[in-house]
Amino acid sequence: MNASATQKVMLITGGGRGIGAATATLAASQGYAVVINYQSQQGPAQRVADAINAAGGHAVCVQADVSNEAGVMALFAAVDAQFGRIDVLVNNAGVVDKTARVQDMTEARLLRMFTTNTISAFLCCREAVKRMSTALGKGGGAIINVSSAASRLGSANQYVDYAASKGAMDVLTHGLAQEVAAQGIRVNAVRPGLIDTDIHASGGLPNRVNDLAASVPMGRGGSAEEVAQAIVWLASEQASYTTMSMVEVSGGR
Ligand code: NAP
Repeated sequence: MNASATQKVMLITGGGRGIGAATATLAASQGYAVVINYQSQQGPAQRVADAINAAGGHAVCVQADVSNEAGVMALFAAVDAQFGRIDVLVNNAGVVDKTARVQDMTEARLLRMFTTNTISAFLCCREAVKRMSTALGKGGGAIINVSSAASRLGSANQYVDYAASKGAMDVLTHGLAQEVAAQGIRVNAVRPGLIDTDIHASGGLPNRVNDLAASVPMGRGGSAEEVAQAIVWLASEQASYTTMSMVEVSGGR
């Protein structure tokens, strides 16, 4: 199905799995055309897009590594070519690493962490602002950064590098929100807590959500769909006076 000229377009980095996939599915059900970016796992991303399109929505998949500028430029060029507009950017692509103390962290680990989780978000914000800013004759828009409760907690003895990469994302949200508030762009963040996705296994802790559930005041981990609800609300007109906000989606943790 083709996107109409008036249909809003949402770009979700890392949209093929987990929180990104849930966001794509929910946003499409609410009428957005969605661009599902993935890095290497085409199969899950294509399945999300196929399900959306089969349900009468509009989704496309775009492979790009957003941890480097060339990947980000290629991704936005694809959005330009296919839609000619972008209304919502969700900076969701992110990684964790194996449990380690700061004293043992290598430069390679830190570079991967900060380029994937933080520099990607800066570069995508840069390209999105150019395409959204009313000061540049564009139609405005919304940016949602997927941070983490780790930025509050610090993640000692597990991954302080990850927590710091998300802390930088919080400050990006805080500063950019003020920079572009008068240009029709709202910038907010969600800070998920323990959410049941593949990311924990990629960090060597596949049972992390169950193992830590009792430490969450609500007594359970969250779902990707619960985070998606907050992201899609922040994107919507219902959040029209909400900018520079950090929405905790963490069960009280
Ligand atoms: P996930 O299931 O592991 O999915 C991560 C997604 O990011 C995948 O689609 C992956 O693409 C993509 N990605 C990774 N590096 C990329 C790159 N360089 N370029 C493009 N895409 C890239 O993770 P998740 O749990 O849904 O996490 C999504 C976001 O939520 C992350 O920013 C994470 O830090 C944050 N978060 C998660 C939790 C949690 O408990 N799950 C808590 C707080 C915050 P491929 O599919 O191609 O590999």
